[in-house]
Amino acid sequence: MRLVLLGAPGSGKGTQAQRMQARHGVPQVSTGDLLRAAVAQQTPLGRAAKAVMDAGQLVADDVMLGIIRERLAQADAARGFILDGFPRTIAQADGLAGQLADLGLALDAVVLLDVDPEILLRRMAGRRSCRRCGRVFHVESNPPKPGELCTDGRPHDLFQRPDDNEQTVRERLAVYAERTQPLIDYYQRKGMLRRVDANGTLDEVDARIEGVLQRR
Ligand code: AMP
Repeated sequence: MRLVLLGAPGSGKGTQAQRMQARHGVPQVSTGDLLRAAVAQQTPLGRAAKAVMDAGQLVADDVMLGIIRERLAQADAARGFILDGFPRTIAQADGLAGQLADLGLALDAVVLLDVDPEILLRRMAGRRSCRRCGRVFHVESNPPKPGELCTDGRPHDLFQRPDDNEQTVRERLAVYAERTQPLIDYYQRKGMLRRVDANGTLDEVDARIEGVLQRR
């Protein structure tokens, strides 16, 4: 399965991708997570990307295409992947199609997670991630279960992403509208788009995603 999850910041791409990867046996590939790992390790990429991410802007297309080429060449992506947060521009989508075509491959589908604007804001305000295992939670709708432990046997170490503050969130939503939303038409015209109402509980959205995938 080669899938793109498309949607605004806060639409639930990461959470749903994390749930789907176990079910489908293919890895979640989150470019945001790859960039955050580079920032944490203070690599040259991480040092360059940090200011761009903190401002809610997009990292350059050629940089992102290089990251994706490297990630998709890894063994665990050979049977497929769930792309989360990539592509975010038409140039990235064209570049991805080219990279896959070079390998004789193509995407199976693009799932658009459609969420009302006020719900996006609530989801981002309450979002917390575990510093060690990377799992994404929400303080109200999806907190760790009582007594639930991280993969290393200790309680999850939750933190709020620096770009989930109100001002950066506004900028990220504006960037989404300008640079990423055109991808909806782009994939619609190619007949690849599957639209999902992603307001609702995690289980509801999960079931709707599986429903549109079965229609293939
Ligand atoms: P995310 O975790 O997907 O919300 O991404 C966090 C931030 O990483 C974004 O606001 C961008 O600054 C950067 N980023 C992630 N994916 C991409 C991408 N495909 N293209 C450009 N920038 C990206």
